[in-house]
Parts: sequence; C-alpha cells; structure tokens
Amino acid sequence: MAPSVRLTVVVPAYNEAEVLPLFHARLVGVLDGMALDARVIYVDDGSRDGTWLVLNRLMGQDPRIGALRLSRNFGKEAALTAGLDAVTDEADAIVIIDADLQDPPELIPELLARWRAGYDVVYATREHREGESWFKRATAHLFYRLMARMAAFNVPHDTGDFRLMSARAVAALRQLRERQRFMKGLFGWIGYPHTAVMYQRSPRQAGRTKWNYWRLFNLAVEGITSFSILPLRLATAVGVATSVCAFSYGAGVFIKAVLWGDPVKGYPSLMVVVLVLGGLQLLALGVLGEYLGRVYAEVKQRPIYLIEAACQVLAMPSPRGT
Ligand code: UDP
Ligand code: MG
Repeated sequence: MAPSVRLTVVVPAYNEAEVLPLFHARLVGVLDGMALDARVIYVDDGSRDGTWLVLNRLMGQDPRIGALRLSRNFGKEAALTAGLDAVTDEADAIVIIDADLQDPPELIPELLARWRAGYDVVYATREHREGESWFKRATAHLFYRLMARMAAFNVPHDTGDFRLMSARAVAALRQLRERQRFMKGLFGWIGYPHTAVMYQRSPRQAGRTKWNYWRLFNLAVEGITSFSILPLRLATAVGVATSVCAFSYGAGVFIKAVLWGDPVKGYPSLMVVVLVLGGLQLLALGVLGEYLGRVYAEVKQRPIYLIEAACQVLAMPSPRGT
C-alpha cells in the first residue's frame, strides 16, 4: 500500500466557541472517512469568548489537533498566515477552511481528488449564496470584475479562502510576507496549476459574521492597491487631461482679454472650475495616501502576528518568515 497522504487542515477562529465543537465533529467525521494522516491546526485569533478553552478541551480529546493563540485579534488574514507558518514540511496537502461551517468539510475528499490529479491549488467556488442580500452580491460581483481588470493575474469569482494547496504552493505563499495581506490576491499571485470545485455555501450555523460594508470596502481598497498601481496611473492621466484643457482654455481667456478686454463676469464658471479641480486634487491625494500608507506599513517591518500560546504544534511559526 502507498504511504498515506499527510493532510493538514488550517482553521482560523475568532469568537467561534459556539460553533467549534460542531465544526470539529463534522471535520473529524470527514477526515476519519478518508485513509489519511490528518492534522488540524486551529488558530485562535485573540477571541474574547471561550474559543481557547474549547480548543484546549478538543485537544485533550484528539491528539491530531494543534492550536495557536495570537496575542490579540489580528484579523483573519494574519490568523491564516500564522496557521500556514505552523504547517510542518511533512504535509503533502494543506486545506484552509472557516470554522463557522460555511465551508462544508464534506468537500475535502473532492478537493483532495483534484490535488491527486495534479493540481496545486484547488479552490472551492460557491454556486449560490444563501442568506446574503442582493446588495452584497452586487458589490461582490463588481469587486471581482474590478480585480480581474486591474491585477495581472486572475482572482476567481465567488471564491473565499476555502481551498486545498500543495506543499509547494504553501511554501510559495509563505514567502509573501507583506503586512497588508489580501489573501485572495496572494493566492492568485503565486500561480501554479489551479482548478475549482463548485459547492453550495450555506449561511453561518451559529455566531455572527464579523464583516460589514465598511470592512468590505476596506478589503476592496486593499485588494486593488496591493496588486495594482492603476489608480496612480489614472490620477496621472486625469491630471494630464485637466492640464491640457486648463492651458488651452487659459490661452483662450488670455487672448480674448488682450484683443477685446474682458469685463469681470463668470462667477458660475469660476466656482465650477475651482470645485472640480479641488475635488480632483483631493481624490488624487487620497489615492497617493493609500499607497503611501501601505509603504509606511511595510517599512516598519512589524511581524504579521504575535503568538501568545502554542499547543501541540510541531513547527513553531515565525511571524517574519524565514
Ligand atoms: N476570523 C478570524 N479573525 C477575524 C475574523 C474572522 O480568524 O478577525 C475567522 C472566523 O472565525 C471564521 C473565518 O475567519 O472562521 C471567517 O469569518 P466570518 O465568518 O466572520 O467571515 P465571512 O464568512 O462572513 O466571510
Ligand atoms: Mg463565515
């Protein structure tokens, strides 16, 4: 018999005490049904509820579990990074999955089958979004269209972080140590053969989502500014266009005034010009600021996360990378 596949499942969890036992039971049900050498790494992202206690209890029951606790809430991207950093070199395949049961663990065998067929990244694409408003769907759609346009690589539609990755894909991902982590983009950036598996995404089982429109807007800005300088180009292009218009109009005004004299009038046109230019300048400054802020965050070279406790984790993660 061939040696069994070593699979590591990485699960970020923030205030998921309520749903974790359910999640783990379902995950274990799936893992036990497959002939593999499985490990699960939970990352408690500075939860304020009993998540860490629940994890400790689960660890007592199941030696396959390892758990990390971050020193505070660093956000899902950082939690995922910590989990991936803790994956040992022995792992052949790594699955990333949410703890809230929105990503069905039952899909893992199918992901694994695609990986066996030679794909490095197998992502789960949702067929249908239940329990989400049309507005969220519309904004999400717009966002994917925008990203596809701006980034040099493809960000697959309707795809969350739920995916399976080969060891080399995870090794590649680990090299990307940027502080502003837009995971969907990072996944796309590494490349390698990838494929999708369709699934039905169900509403959360318990607890509540940590997302709101402000966070989604920030995520969108993050995604675009992390992978494209198109907004800077646009600012330049708009600047050039307005300058050309302004100079020709200015020349016209000058010539008219010299030839015929020009009694003062035109308060409306003056206001329009001042306001439009002021608006454009603020917008361009804002765009510049977004990029400058990102540069600032990078030059500080702070670690992506800090670990408060690590239990039964075989590889101690390094927040700065290797
Ligand atoms: N999560 C996390 N840190 C955070 C927010 C979320 O680790 O700051 C985890 C959360 O516990 C869950 C996953 O990331 O396992 C997805 O979070 P959520 O369900 O809130 O996002 P959504 O499914 O709405 O995209
Ligand atoms: Mg969720």
